[in-house]
Amino acid sequence: MAGHVRTWDLIVIGGGIVGCAAALYAARMGMSCLIIERDMIGSAQSGRNLGFVRQQARDFRELPLMMASMRIWEGIEADLGRSVGWHQGGNISLAMNETGLAERREWQRRGREEFGLDTRILTAAETFAILPNLSRERSVTGAMYTPSDGKAEPARATRAFFEAALELGVAVCLGEAVRLIETGGGRTVGVWVGGRFYRSDTVICAAGAGSAALLRSVGLDLPQERIRATVARTERSQVLLPQCVSGPSTGIRQDANGAFLLSVAGGEYDVRFDSWRHMRKYADARRGNPEAAKINYLAPLERFWPRRVPAPLADIPPSRDYLPPETKRAQQAQEEFQALFPDIGDVALTTIWAGVIDTLPDMIPALGPVTGVEGLLVATGFSGHGFGPGPMAGMIMANLAAGRPASVDTRAISPDRFQRALN
Ligand SMILES: Cc1cc2nc3c(=O)[nH]c(=O)nc-3n(C[C@H](O)[C@H](O)[C@H](O)COP(=O)(O)OP(=O)(O)OC[C@H]3O[C@@H](n4cnc5c(N)ncnc54)[C@H](O)[C@@H]3O)c2cc1C
Repeated sequence: MAGHVRTWDLIVIGGGIVGCAAALYAARMGMSCLIIERDMIGSAQSGRNLGFVRQQARDFRELPLMMASMRIWEGIEADLGRSVGWHQGGNISLAMNETGLAERREWQRRGREEFGLDTRILTAAETFAILPNLSRERSVTGAMYTPSDGKAEPARATRAFFEAALELGVAVCLGEAVRLIETGGGRTVGVWVGGRFYRSDTVICAAGAGSAALLRSVGLDLPQERIRATVARTERSQVLLPQCVSGPSTGIRQDANGAFLLSVAGGEYDVRFDSWRHMRKYADARRGNPEAAKINYLAPLERFWPRRVPAPLADIPPSRDYLPPETKRAQQAQEEFQALFPDIGDVALTTIWAGVIDTLPDMIPALGPVTGVEGLLVATGFSGHGFGPGPMAGMIMANLAAGRPASVDTRAISPDRFQRALN
């Protein structure tokens, strides 16, 4: 094999929002930095998500991370010098019965008392006042509303971090996957890409659903799984919906051009030959929310079936993964949108796509150093809600890489909480 190419202060694996943000902030701290991305910037989750930047209804263990990230989002366009479709229009989670409202009330109480969040509980009348197009036919009992929540364009935001990083001299290796993180004497020494070795004593693994395979080779057995989720985009509408709305099953966001993005909660778990690996660790998650992932036993065969693939999308970089969207879920999302907002929901779907969520059994990320492998930092497993916290996760990674304090207490989301079997 060829010798090493060059030595970097920092190597970042993964060109999603976390990796690109980490590289930018590290470069601002004066570090020489290389991003290695196996496809294109934003090809995976960061370019394919719904674009909610949401604090409310999060697991309280990751709320401090998200609240700190919100401070970055609020100044993001000025800081990066680029438009990313940022709009702080609030997030509304509708309650369709008293039980749902009570659950939201309990979350709101903790969010306000323990974290000082501006979340409010709305009565039905207040909900209709804020959402004048919401159907009166629907039995809305009330809602949880966080005015400081926002939204942004996923692919544009990810590219904005990347381009700002490039301007500071960050190097990039696109279209090739890191095959192995090399360690020696209990510390990171670099990564292998094909037959080339890139040397660095600090490596950030922000490889989304590709992280677990890389980390296994250094002894961190992260029980990470992959859920395929579908998003649909409608034609543009003249009617404005500034808030992001979570209906009973569907998330709704209007994009910067007036089109609506719709996504049904949950997704498909495509069975693989090694699916047995973490099955038991997900038993509780499956019991707690059986709708979260529909098991697709036919996945190994489906790859060979002809499928009608929707037209390519301008703003979503291609991925080498086989990612067919689920038409039924898109239709379900459209039906719910039309039922909730009959005046504005009557817009045709223009396209649908899928993305693979990198989930962990407790549905919160793994963020921080890997104990026992000095110089290796991990930010992965955001479990379907890492776009919002992505910028701050990147900042934390950069801080740790530079030997500075994380700036947010991440002990509750440390990778250490999973059983480790270090070499
Ligand atoms: C359909 C869908 C809807 C979502 N909606 C929301 C939402 O509304 N709000 C929210 O906050 N979050 C949402 N999320 C989650 C959010 O998109 C992710 O949590 C976030 O983008 C994760 O960013 P990341 O940088 O960690 O990972 P990714 O964006 O997945 O990036 C990881 C990158 O690493 C690369 N990679 C993998 N393996 C290797 C390797 N070996 N070598 C080199 N590169 C590698 C991949 O190609 C990829 O580009 C959604 C996700 C999906 C799929």
